[in-house]
Amino acid sequence: MADRIVLLPDNIANQIAAGEVIQRPASAVKELLENAVDAGATEIKLFLNDAGKALIQVVDNGAGMSETDARMCFERHATSKIRNIDDLFHIRTMGFRGEALASIAAVAQVELRTRREQDEVGTCIEIENSLVKKQTPVAAPVGTSICMKNLFFNVPARRNFLKSNAAEMRHVIDEFIRVALAFPNIFFSLTSNGQQLFHLEAGSLKQRIVQLLGNNYSAKLVSVKENTDYLNVHGFIGKPETAKKTRGDQYFFVNNRFIRSAYLHHAIMQAYQDLISSDSFPAYVLFIDLDPTQVDVNVHPTKQEIKFEDEKIVYAFVQAAVKHSLAQFSITPTLDFELDASIQGLDAVQKPFTEREQSATRSSTIFQTFTEANQAHRIVGGEWATVKNESSGFVSLTKQLMQLEETAMPEPTQLTTHQQATLTTGSPTQVFNTFILLPTAEKFYLVHQQAAHERILYERFEAATLGRAVATQNSLFPVSVELAPQDVVLLAELLPDLQKLGYTIEPFGRSSFVIQGTPADLLAGNEKAALESILEHYKHFSSELKLPRREMLLRTVAWQQAIKPGTVLTEKEMNQLTEDLFACRQPNATPSGRPTYVEFSKNQLERMFL
Ligand code: ADP
Ligand code: MG
Repeated sequence: MADRIVLLPDNIANQIAAGEVIQRPASAVKELLENAVDAGATEIKLFLNDAGKALIQVVDNGAGMSETDARMCFERHATSKIRNIDDLFHIRTMGFRGEALASIAAVAQVELRTRREQDEVGTCIEIENSLVKKQTPVAAPVGTSICMKNLFFNVPARRNFLKSNAAEMRHVIDEFIRVALAFPNIFFSLTSNGQQLFHLEAGSLKQRIVQLLGNNYSAKLVSVKENTDYLNVHGFIGKPETAKKTRGDQYFFVNNRFIRSAYLHHAIMQAYQDLISSDSFPAYVLFIDLDPTQVDVNVHPTKQEIKFEDEKIVYAFVQAAVKHSLAQFSITPTLDFELDASIQGLDAVQKPFTEREQSATRSSTIFQTFTEANQAHRIVGGEWATVKNESSGFVSLTKQLMQLEETAMPEPTQLTTHQQATLTTGSPTQVFNTFILLPTAEKFYLVHQQAAHERILYERFEAATLGRAVATQNSLFPVSVELAPQDVVLLAELLPDLQKLGYTIEPFGRSSFVIQGTPADLLAGNEKAALESILEHYKHFSSELKLPRREMLLRTVAWQQAIKPGTVLTEKEMNQLTEDLFACRQPNATPSGRPTYVEFSKNQLERMFL
């Protein structure tokens, strides 16, 4: 029998090995950015087309390469960063395995242009399928530009495996942010399909964090700084009030390398223990620097997981450092924190708008003299109109929702005879401002007001995305919102569906949007908060569930707009809510499967009393 083992040709071996390092555009972006950082660049520009599927280009002003190095860098295990195994344990650069460029050259069409300061001319190399196609001298600025086109053009199985542009773009932005956070003293930019999404001037870490995570952190970061012989920790953590229900603003860097560590995350959560609710996450950007001999970064091809020589010390240390900063911050609160607390304490913010207050406002002269021209909002596409009490600026949301529900549904809801029968008896009572107790002849229902409303809104929104859109009120004073770059991408993706749900939002400049109109049931002045909370909850949901985008959005907006526990309801509102609930296609559960009501039959109750 013939021998069967063959040595794979280089290009195939490289393609296989590439699978470990380059899974998607984002992995190539990470490697190229890190190479530019390692080359000592002070300016790094990233260009993408089609989320990196068509083009990824990184231009840096770093050291550049000699002609020979330019040729060599695409060889597997070609690196200038280590010479022997010992160097591996003293590594201070981001790269060292010498695999990235070899992998990239195996799965894309690559063009490299590079020049060192001491060289008159630079080198241009074109390489494809691990084979050099062309090498010429070129005039080039000092530094390196690497262009990779058509990622996975020769590995269709991998290319097909890539997600939508929007999804790949999110991965790319994640990687970009990680590198940009780690090196605030370097200028970074990101341009996608000709549009510049990030333009990050070199500056302090704090400035970089605000540039990347959003302006809302600007006065809300606490600095962390502890040095010992064993390790140093520095960076910033968010004040407790900035904690979000969504993960996303948590970053650890060990010797400037982004790492994931559930273990260290736990250390921080413990430090925040009594300051934030247990289901929210504080923001943190923490740098742990220690002797490279104390960490093994080589346990993972993309180096995102690392091994500490002594994990427990690092845990205890990180926790102590964070606790220390939090303690300092609470003894010497800054002005903006005090302000926030006092605003939050105001009755108008804390207490729901009661029926009594409402009728008082209605009879007030301001209300009476309100003419249509004075209204801040005009209803388009729906008959419903409301007059807002501009003097208090606070009108019951529930009230408006109920009114909207009355008029926004022209067809009378079709109740089954059974439902009609069961719902005709008894008037509803609200319990704990959270449940509605609805007695009928043979049983009573305990309806969870938020869950029920969530179901109702969900089905209404679902219908809206398929047919007639939700009524929009055009704002007389459009509100502009400035978003963090990753949210810009997300919102752009959601705009068409949001439009159907009553939000008219238009892009305005690079990172801003203008809210031109909102669903008719939304309070004036709440547009910005509503949008931010939609984005936040969308991210929260999508981190836990993998569902189609529209489904996720419907659930998010239904959840977000549903009346919350603690809201006082009138009898009319309760009737409307329960009636709408039982008219739903699937009344007994929220879109995410939580029960909307529990039923107690008379028999059942009698049995409980034996
Ligand atoms: P590694 O970074 O692990 O050494 P790479 O395959 O990423 O491996 O890069 C191979 C080598 O090419 C690097 O060690 C470096 O010498 C050189 N190189 C890569 N990118 C650049 C760049 N942007 N500027 C200068 N040299 C670079
Ligand atoms: Mg590298």
